[in-house]
Amino acid sequence: MIPFLDLKKVNEKYEQDIRHAVNRVIDSGWYLLGAEVEAFESEFSKYIGVNHTIGVASGLDALRVILKAYIEIGELQEGDEVIVPGHTFIASILAIMDVGLKPVLAEPDPDTYNMDPDRIEDHITERTGAIMIVHLYGQNAYSDTIRKLCKKYDLKLIEDAAQAHGAFYQEKRIGSLGDAAAFSFYPGKNLGALGGAGAICTDDEPLANVCRALGNYGSEKKYHNKYQGYNSRLDEIQAAILRVKLKGLDDDNQRRRVVADFYLNNIENPKITLPKLSNSATNSKDHVWHLFVIRCEERARLIQYLDKHGIGTLIHYPVPPNRQEGYKSLHSYKLPLTEFLHEKVLSLPISPVISRSEIEKVVQVINNFQ
Ligand SMILES: *Cc1c(COP(=O)(O)O)cnc(C)c1O
Repeated sequence: MIPFLDLKKVNEKYEQDIRHAVNRVIDSGWYLLGAEVEAFESEFSKYIGVNHTIGVASGLDALRVILKAYIEIGELQEGDEVIVPGHTFIASILAIMDVGLKPVLAEPDPDTYNMDPDRIEDHITERTGAIMIVHLYGQNAYSDTIRKLCKKYDLKLIEDAAQAHGAFYQEKRIGSLGDAAAFSFYPGKNLGALGGAGAICTDDEPLANVCRALGNYGSEKKYHNKYQGYNSRLDEIQAAILRVKLKGLDDDNQRRRVVADFYLNNIENPKITLPKLSNSATNSKDHVWHLFVIRCEERARLIQYLDKHGIGTLIHYPVPPNRQEGYKSLHSYKLPLTEFLHEKVLSLPISPVISRSEIEKVVQVINNFQ
């Protein structure tokens, strides 16, 4: 059996160090907003190449807090529009709606699965306040076209970096490309905690200060609430664990690239469409392969066939945001490309610890699919 993802195995090489880190927190007697979070924030800032990191409780919260901070500062007004890919995990869109902003869904480039930069400008109106790019499946979504649009229309650029820890655009890490970025450290992400966790990265100091306050009940000073904030903190135990795993992130990502290259070079079946690097990709580091997503016209049959051969797969994602039950206000959207992708995509097993014989088997089984 080749599981879609074996998280226990992913964390095995860190196990000793994780136990030491957790013990350190237990011994310290300090569980929130302490030395581990401070150290992780500074180490992550250095890694990403930004001046400020603010730990929060999840990736969704990182997005919410950024948007809410822009509203508090007056850079965004309630009801302003945020252009966001229609083909994304629901959190990107929920964060926008949750703070009283309006998501405007844009279509993807079906080759890269990321928002098509050439389809963004059509959506810009008087009310557009920001563009949220999502580096989907681990591939950079930023481009010169997007930078120019933000400049031309004076828009904030927010990165949903929840799937692309460590990826690059040219010489810069994703998370340092826009005005602010949100990371998730959900256990299955490329940098995963052993529970919920997230972070905000930015070079904007006033924004960073508001975000920090918002994550802690809107207070800069204990029991003085400057804003109506959230209770969203990265806890000390998760921060201590993330410090351990951050040291291995580049190595883990490189292992993912080796798996992806093997799939790309060896899967050969006319029924399967392989993922592509974007045109703006300057080298293989633009992609950290959070997911390896193929397409197939006969997806249901392929899933069954792979399952029969002991290969686990998942769909990211089976229902597009504009068809979700809880999102009726988005139902009027017609997004043919987004909906097409949701019907055809399938994620193959990929991780830093999947073995050579396992990926050889995946290739062989897929190549025999008729
Ligand atoms: C995982 C994810 C999030 C949300 O992260 P949580 O930590 O689960 O809240 C947001 N956006 C994208 C694209 C994600 O994949």
